[in-house]
Amino acid sequence: MSEETKKDFIREIIAEDLVSGKHATTITRFPPEPNGYLHIGHAKAICLSFGIAQENAGTGAKCHLRFDDTNPSKEETEYVESIKEDVKWLGFDWGDNLFFASDYFEYFYECAVDLIKKGLAYVEDDSLEEVRAKRGDVNTPGTRSASAEHSVEENLDLFARMRAGEYQNGEKILRAKIDMASPNMHLRDPVLYRIMHTHHHNTGDAWCIYPMYDFAHPLEDAKEHITHSLCTLEFEDHRPLYDWFIQNCPVPSTPRQIEFSRLNLNYTVMSKRKLLQLVQEKRVNGWDDPRMPTISGMRRRGYPAEAIRSFVVGTGITKYKGITDVAVLENEVRNHLNASAPRRMAILDPVKVVLENWDEQPMETASVPNHPQNPEMGERTIPISNEIYIEREDFMEDPPNKFFRLGPERYVRLRGGHIIHCSGYDKDADGQVSLIKAKILLGTVGRDAPEGVKCKAAIHWVDAATGVDAEVRLYDRLFKCEDPDKAQSGFLDALNPDSLHRVKALVEPSLAEVEAGFSCQFERIGYFVADAKDHQPGKPVFNRTVALRDSWSKKGG
Ligand code: ATP
Ligand code: MG
Repeated sequence: MSEETKKDFIREIIAEDLVSGKHATTITRFPPEPNGYLHIGHAKAICLSFGIAQENAGTGAKCHLRFDDTNPSKEETEYVESIKEDVKWLGFDWGDNLFFASDYFEYFYECAVDLIKKGLAYVEDDSLEEVRAKRGDVNTPGTRSASAEHSVEENLDLFARMRAGEYQNGEKILRAKIDMASPNMHLRDPVLYRIMHTHHHNTGDAWCIYPMYDFAHPLEDAKEHITHSLCTLEFEDHRPLYDWFIQNCPVPSTPRQIEFSRLNLNYTVMSKRKLLQLVQEKRVNGWDDPRMPTISGMRRRGYPAEAIRSFVVGTGITKYKGITDVAVLENEVRNHLNASAPRRMAILDPVKVVLENWDEQPMETASVPNHPQNPEMGERTIPISNEIYIEREDFMEDPPNKFFRLGPERYVRLRGGHIIHCSGYDKDADGQVSLIKAKILLGTVGRDAPEGVKCKAAIHWVDAATGVDAEVRLYDRLFKCEDPDKAQSGFLDALNPDSLHRVKALVEPSLAEVEAGFSCQFERIGYFVADAKDHQPGKPVFNRTVALRDSWSKKGG
């Protein structure tokens, strides 16, 4: 597919604006509110706005990272730092273009004063309840309060006193004077400023009035000469108000707002409020818990940044509302890791095998390829001896014909080693197989099975003498139902009680030495990553990134 045919409607608008000369270049922005960690939905907005800047770099295009920190009550610097880290990790660079909306507080104030002078804004004396009651509804026009009749001088004075801290929270608000009968509720004399005696992470106690999002956002865009302000569909109804502020305030440029549909995933909640609740109530272990749909959670889970990018780009930019199957994301992760992740051996549910005739042809190490399709990734040598562990499910006492792994009197190959023949097994008091006895077939390392020996499979193993204990965390989806937001008794009831299993596993010795963040396939099991926080050389901790196959689609069908 050529770049041309791939263009979505936003990229088409931008290309036309560049061709027509309306704009010489394009400046976009990503404007997170620092009140939580970024999630996969934000990744879509990031890939769009930063992606457009990259694609148009030849014209001098840029994408600003702007913290929309106008509401001091929910914002924290921890979030600012995490957001920067996540944008960078996703592969984007804002260069010198890092901005904070709170740096424009004086400008917002000037714009408000300008609106008052034009007779387009007034200080409301009514309480918030009265304001709400007089707003009307879709079928009933609203009514203005007597405050709308304040003179310009009175409004200037009242607004200055609001700023000076003469009033309590909620006592006064500044409103735009637009149209109390507008069918668009956002135009019914919307609030511009409210009083909040709250400390701000950037401006400290300099302000006790703070601008509303709808007022501040277009001014931020204009101030930064944003050409195309890309946001999600819920802001479509706000666009007339956005344009009204641009028309009526002293702005240095005329940005255009364009909306696209949000990314929604099944089995996932994406609202920051709900994610915060999961963290605060300790339903998960922090914002970067590998089960969270946050960028930091996915990174810790072992999702490669490229997989996240190609997934969100693949969902496309449209105005259609839809829900994407989270299996599509998991599959993208699997495909990326299948190509790039080296193979290693680990046993999650070990049973011991004694190789009784080992001394007839002992080997010290087995050579095992690091990737089945990519010889360039080389081979590694793994110590092996007369006692090994294999996966419990690779042995059956009474196997059916189609089972090609180990069973009494059956043959199987040890990856990189001999073909072995099972000569017997022991059981413990509970009837569980406790020990398997086998014999190596001499001369079979790297060679086909001799005449008359039926050996159709190779299994993974870990040497008993040199294998290393590891904690392995098997993660599953955090929610057990497709639409947790619609769960009858609330989204918390939709939590999957089996979303985390910790198992004591045995891994090949090289895995004890890897760095945190090392990603690999545990052969025949799945993709795993050394945990960013808890893994230590000598004390390995691995997270399951994704299983080799999608177990949920089997459950469904
Ligand atoms: P949430 O609804 O999760 O609380 P938000 O929209 O309040 O998110 P912001 O920090 O304001 O969070 O978002 C920054 C940008 O990311 C906005 O432009 C917003 O439109 C975009 N964004 C947020 N969620 C999604 C999503 N699910 N899909 C695409 N873009 C999104
Ligand atoms: Mg928002």
